[in-house]
Amino acid sequence: VLILAIESSCDETAAAVVKNGRTVLSNVISSQISTHTIYGGVVPEIASREHIKAVNYVIRRALAEAGVGLPEITAVGVTYGPGLVGALLVGVAEAKALAYAAKKPLIGVHHIEGHVSANFIEHPDLEPPFVCLIVSGGHTHLVIVKDYGKFEILGRTRDDAAGEAFDKVARAVGLGYPGGPKVDRTAREGNPHAIEFPRGKVDGSPYDFSFSGLKSAVLNHINHAKMTGEEIHVPDLVASFQNSVVDSLVSRTVMAAKEYGYGQVAIAGGVASNTALRAAMEQACNKAGIRCCYPSPVLCTDNAAMIGAAAYYEYCNGNIAGWDLNAVPNLKLGER
Ligand code: ATP
Ligand code: MG
Ligand code: FE
Repeated sequence: VLILAIESSCDETAAAVVKNGRTVLSNVISSQISTHTIYGGVVPEIASREHIKAVNYVIRRALAEAGVGLPEITAVGVTYGPGLVGALLVGVAEAKALAYAAKKPLIGVHHIEGHVSANFIEHPDLEPPFVCLIVSGGHTHLVIVKDYGKFEILGRTRDDAAGEAFDKVARAVGLGYPGGPKVDRTAREGNPHAIEFPRGKVDGSPYDFSFSGLKSAVLNHINHAKMTGEEIHVPDLVASFQNSVVDSLVSRTVMAAKEYGYGQVAIAGGVASNTALRAAMEQACNKAGIRCCYPSPVLCTDNAAMIGAAAYYEYCNGNIAGWDLNAVPNLKLGER
């Protein structure tokens, strides 16, 4: 089964060809980051226009690199939510047109199911069930992946997503956008125990996350230093912030795996490429005798290969979309 997959939910225009959900024949990503950098974040209207400019070229490249033509494709998969409505619409309209013209089934894919499915590409022997920590720019969910496309949500963030917290802290200390990778790199030169920041907890919900208190503590620290004229040691500051985030994420994930009795843990989403998170999760899992999986960085952030992997399992489950498939900007995990 060959899936042509398209992803355009945020600021990456991406297309890929994936065989049987696990083998990537091509994975083409056109990033708009440089276009949005001067604004300090993604501008939705600009994102839509950039997707329109890039989408045809990206799809042609994906087919060419895979060495296949549209007639040899089994089905077309596309992200239909969640994300920016104007951005999603570009991919959905394109996928519909291609699938209809080539008489191929159309498959609507949940973007977050895509992030989780990146692990199936990286680890060909990984099969559900397993515990998955989903940490991206807009989501922080702790779930049990019961089966392909089937999730039980154990916990979620009550305020900021993990990636959002990284981006906001990066902006506050002047590291710029996109913040996650810059914090990751800068933190390597700092002492993660220099400043004792709070670990966000939600009373009565052991698997929920909260990062707004931590974010406030970081901002207070910066303001205090500015007022007293103290020098801010940015590497120490971001290393300590990152340590608090990683601690919250890893402790809950391993606790869930132990409590529910799963021997496998996976990480998914853009923040899964964070080197401190990967190392800490690996270490905690090793200690608990649990297998720890995460995708390589290019499969962690937005890409279409992960959408192709998820689309394959939706295809196998018989979930074919109608020609009325529409973008659903606030699609919830586990909804169709
Ligand atoms: P969502 O998937 O929730 O719709 P998104 O698609 O915008 O949101 P992703 O592409 O999955 O998010 O991830 C982008 C996020 O990952 C950004 O917030 C970015 O700062 C963060 N990120 C990327 N690399 C790293 C890193 N090395 N360390 C920490 N955060 C990172
Ligand atoms: Mg992005
Ligand atoms: Fe994403």
